[in-house]
Amino acid sequence: MKTDIKSFTLEELNTELEGLGLKKFRSTQVYDWLHKKLVVSFDEMSNLSKDLREKLDEKYYIAALEAETIQESKLDGTKKYLFRLNDGHYVESVLMRYKHGNSVCISSQVGCRMGCRFCASTLDGLTRNLTPSEMLDQIYRISVETEERVSNVVVMGTGEPMDNYDNLIRFIRLLTDRNGLNISQRNITVSTCGIVENMKRLAEENLSITLALSLHSVTDEKRRGLMPIANKYSISELMEACKYYFDKTGRRVTFEYSLVRDVNDTEADAAGLIKLASGVGAHVNLIPVNPIKEREYRETEHEAVLAFKNKLEKSRINVTIRREMGRDIDGACGQLRQKKIEGNI
Ligand code: SAH
Repeated sequence: MKTDIKSFTLEELNTELEGLGLKKFRSTQVYDWLHKKLVVSFDEMSNLSKDLREKLDEKYYIAALEAETIQESKLDGTKKYLFRLNDGHYVESVLMRYKHGNSVCISSQVGCRMGCRFCASTLDGLTRNLTPSEMLDQIYRISVETEERVSNVVVMGTGEPMDNYDNLIRFIRLLTDRNGLNISQRNITVSTCGIVENMKRLAEENLSITLALSLHSVTDEKRRGLMPIANKYSISELMEACKYYFDKTGRRVTFEYSLVRDVNDTEADAAGLIKLASGVGAHVNLIPVNPIKEREYRETEHEAVLAFKNKLEKSRINVTIRREMGRDIDGACGQLRQKKIEGNI
């Protein structure tokens, strides 16, 4: 079995290659090829001898994703990638182009075991975790394909990042390494359905990334109806973890709140959300739920979304409505991969 060379930090790569009798500058060269020049084979590492390239190839593999399909939105330039992993599984990633730069939304697992009722990514459960290199390579392949710099990364695609914690942290450290793409920690957001222990652990990693909590309901009872994870953690435990995160990192958390018509968009819901958000100084991101064909949920009408937003703003909550990007290209969570699984593409 070959070892995943792209998941090593520079320091670890040093140790690895020293073990093979190589000088230190070799690991810097290899790391540069992998994380800056973004090559996908040892053959491309032209400042290494053929012998050395062969030796590395015998011992290591380079995780490289292949774009199976790329769809581009005619509305806003959003691009959706369906990537094939080395073992034949598929994940999807999205590139969103904003005025302030390019943002990539990546997947952290193949499938998901969290079971949120409105989400397409969880329909077939969890297949496996992604390695740090597979998370990185979604961004690397998109940079190469577009020849554009990626400045923001959101871990909001398929999967629950806090259910793949160690790989997630390693991925963040590699992505923000100045010897690699050097993306600013402040431009990284990790979204979780709320696994309390790991939210707290994240607070202690000494990172300045943004933590987003998928809240979606303001009462435990209602939340349990939408998200099975709510059977394990109460909203008060979640709020405590959010406070802890803010205290440790100085970073405000974001609440994601997908508005589902007649389910969580009432006056009482708005009032409850105001209370929770002011309690922990959270920013609120409203998302009209994106209906998936497997479920009955419908989105809150646009007017009602605006009214909901107004209520929050009147109470001085910092609130945004997530701009819907790429609606014409299955822009929403997990739908492209689902189509592939069902054999529809
Ligand atoms: N597992 C993580 C990250 C992936 S989901 C989490 O739960 O946060 C990214 C966000 O999209 C979450 O807030 C999730 O609840 C939301 N989401 C999933 N399916 C959706 C849908 N059909 N419509 C609107 N939001 C959805």
